[in-house]
Amino acid sequence: MKTRLLAAAAPLVVAATMVSGCASMPAEAETEAPASASAVPAYSGPFAQESTLPFHAPDFSTIKDSDYQPALEAGIAAKRAEIEAIADNPEPPTFDNTVVAMERAGALLSRVENVFDQLVSANTNATLDAVDTATSPKLEALKDRIYLNDKLFQRVKAVRDSAEGKALTGEDAMLLETTYAKFVHRGAELDQAQKAQLKDMNLRIAALETEFSQKLTAGTDAAAVTFDSKDQLAGLSDADIAAAAKRAADRGMAGKYVLALSNTTQQPALSQLSNRDSRKKLFEASVNRTSHGGEYDTTAIVSELATLRAKKAKLLGLPDFATFQMYDRMVTSPKKAQEFLNGFVPPLGATQSREAAILADAAKADGIARLEPWDWGYYAEKVRKAKYDLDDAQIKPYFNVWNTLENGVFYAATQTYGITFKRRTDIPVYHPSMRVYEVYDKDGSPLALFYFDPYARPNKQGGAWMGNFVEQSYLTGDKPVVHNTLNIAPPVDGQEPLATWDDVTTMFHEFGHALHGIFASQKYPSLSGTETARDFVEFPSQFNENFATVPAVLQHFAKNAAGETIPDALMKKIEAAAKWNQGLSFGETLEAAMLDMDWHTLDPQQASQPPMAFEAKVLDSMKANGLETGLIPPRYRTPYFRHIWSNGYQAGYYSYIWTEMLAHDGWDWVEKHGGMTRANGDHIRATFLGQGHSKDYAVMYRNFTGHDPDLNPMLAARGLTAPGE
Ligand SMILES: [Zn+2]
Repeated sequence: MKTRLLAAAAPLVVAATMVSGCASMPAEAETEAPASASAVPAYSGPFAQESTLPFHAPDFSTIKDSDYQPALEAGIAAKRAEIEAIADNPEPPTFDNTVVAMERAGALLSRVENVFDQLVSANTNATLDAVDTATSPKLEALKDRIYLNDKLFQRVKAVRDSAEGKALTGEDAMLLETTYAKFVHRGAELDQAQKAQLKDMNLRIAALETEFSQKLTAGTDAAAVTFDSKDQLAGLSDADIAAAAKRAADRGMAGKYVLALSNTTQQPALSQLSNRDSRKKLFEASVNRTSHGGEYDTTAIVSELATLRAKKAKLLGLPDFATFQMYDRMVTSPKKAQEFLNGFVPPLGATQSREAAILADAAKADGIARLEPWDWGYYAEKVRKAKYDLDDAQIKPYFNVWNTLENGVFYAATQTYGITFKRRTDIPVYHPSMRVYEVYDKDGSPLALFYFDPYARPNKQGGAWMGNFVEQSYLTGDKPVVHNTLNIAPPVDGQEPLATWDDVTTMFHEFGHALHGIFASQKYPSLSGTETARDFVEFPSQFNENFATVPAVLQHFAKNAAGETIPDALMKKIEAAAKWNQGLSFGETLEAAMLDMDWHTLDPQQASQPPMAFEAKVLDSMKANGLETGLIPPRYRTPYFRHIWSNGYQAGYYSYIWTEMLAHDGWDWVEKHGGMTRANGDHIRATFLGQGHSKDYAVMYRNFTGHDPDLNPMLAARGLTAPGE
C-alpha cells in the first residue's frame, strides 16, 4: 500500500549540509591580512578532538550547553585559517593540494555543528537559541570567505582546466565538478563590488531565516488552543483528552484543556472533534498563528526575505531565485518542475470535486448547509469510517513504537540488506527517551551507529528528520553516526507508547534516509550518503516506506500487547482507506509545492508585495485551474511555511512529489523483480542507496530500474483518476 500522506510531505532531512560550509566574521575589508595559523585561538573544549566513544559518537555525558559557542567560534576560525592556507599555498595547484584539501578542512567545525544543529532543532533552550542567533551569520560569512575567495577559485579553476583535472574519473571527477559549480553558484565570477553586495545580502538572509524559525516555533506554541470544558473536545479519545488536560495543567491552567498546534494547516484533532465551533477555533488558530499582527507575525520577515532572494538571483545574472536554487538538482529548471506539478492538476481537481460533493452530503445530515475547510477532515474521517469501518483507536494498539522500530523497520532492512542491529545502552544520549543501536554489515562487521528520538516535546521542532552526528568518509576514516527524530505523541502516565499509522509510515520514511547515511561508502564527505540534491534525497526515504506494508514485514511487527497480529481484514481496510481523501492529502501538498515555486519565480518588485495579498492571488489562480483551494488550503500557508523560509527547501518543496514518483516507480521495479529479496537489496545498495552523490542522479536511477522515471505507478498508487474516468 502507498500511503504517503503525512509521511511524504511532513518529514524532512536535516542532513549535515554544513560539511562543505565554513569560515568566519561578517564581511570585512578585502585588504585584511590573511589569517595565519597563529591567529587561530587555542581551543581545548570537548570538541577539540574526535570523541573517544565508539564511532566517535558525541559524548553527551560531558558536553554542556556552554560548550557550543566557544567550539563553534574556534571551529569557524580554524576552518578559515585552513582554507586560507590552501588559497595561499605557494605550490602550483593540484587536485590534492586544492580540491581534496578543501574536503579535509573544517574537521572541528563539522564535529560541533553536526551535534549543535541537532540539539537546537530537537531539544533546544534559550541558551542554544542564543548561540544559534549569534553564530549563524558567522557561518554564512565563512561560506562567503571560501566561495568568494578569488585566489582559491582561481586554483580550483586551474585544476579543472589542467590535464590532471580533465583526466579525473569517478568520484574524483564528481568532486571537482561539484566544487567548481558551488563556487560559481556562490558568486565566484562576480566583480569585487558585486561580491561585497552579495556578502551583505547573504548575512541578512541568514539572519532573517533564523528569526523566522524562532518566531514560528514560539508562535506555534503560543497559538495552542485552550478549551474550558471537556464537552468541547467531544470526539477525541480519552487519552488525547487526558493529554490536553495535562498540557493545560503544565501551563498553569488546571481544569482546562489545551490542544497544541502541529506544523501543518490541518490539525490531527480536526478529523475527530464533533463540536463544529471547536473545529473552527482550532483551524483558525492554525492558519492565523503567525500572521495578523502581534509578536509572532512573520509576514514582514517573509516579505524582506523573498525580495532579497529575488535580488540575489538578479545580481548573479539569473532570472529568479528558483533558477539559482536548482543549479544542482535532478530537475534542471523551474519550468520543468512547474510542468511536472501542473500535470497533476486535472486528475487532482476532478478527485477534489468528487470528494467535496460526498463530504457536503455527509455534512448536510448534520444540518451544515455549507462545507468549510474546518469540516473537511471531520467529514472525510466520518465517510472513511462509514466506507471502511476504520478507526485510529482500532489500529494504534498494533503499533507499539519500539516494536515497530525493532521488529518492523529494522526487520525489513535485515531481510533486504542483510544488516543487523544491537541495542547499546552504554552510549550517552541528549534525552532519556532515546535509544541507540549499533548496525552491523551483512558480513558481521561494524557499519554504523543509529539514534532514535521518537517523542514530541515543546522544545522540539515539528515534523520528522534525519541527520548525521558523524559523516562517513574514507578520506577521514569515519563511519556514519546517524539519527532519526520524530514527533510521536508521548505515552501518558506509563502507558504503552503507541504510533498512528502515519507515525509508522514516517518511521519507515526516516529510516530510508538513515539507510542512505548508513550505507554511505564515499571517499569525500561532501559526496557522502545523503549529501545529494533536494529532489533526490527524498527518494530513498519514500522508497523505504513501501516496506511497511510488505505482508512478511507487517505481520512481523504489527502486534498488540496480547501478541495478536493485526487482522488481515483491518490491514486491507487501511490500504483501501489510504486512497480515500487524496483531494486533501495530496491536494494540500501539491498546492504548497506550487506556492513555493510561485514565491521563488518572482522578480524583486513582485516579491516585495504584501505576502498575504500575493498568496491570495496564487490561490485564486489555482482555483481557476480547477483546484478547491477554498476548502483545501495549502499544507503550509506562507507565514508558517518553515520548509521554504528557514529549512532550505525554497524552490524545492516539489521535491517530495518528484521523489515520490521515483519511489513508486522504483518499487514497481522491485515488485516486478521478485519483491523484497536479498539479491534486490544488494542491487539497490549498489545502484543508489550506497552511492551518495558519486554519480549523476539520472544515471543512478537508470542503473537501478533500467529506465527513466515514469509517473504512472504514482497515479495508480494514489488512486488519482483522470477527468471522466
Ligand atoms: Zn524525508
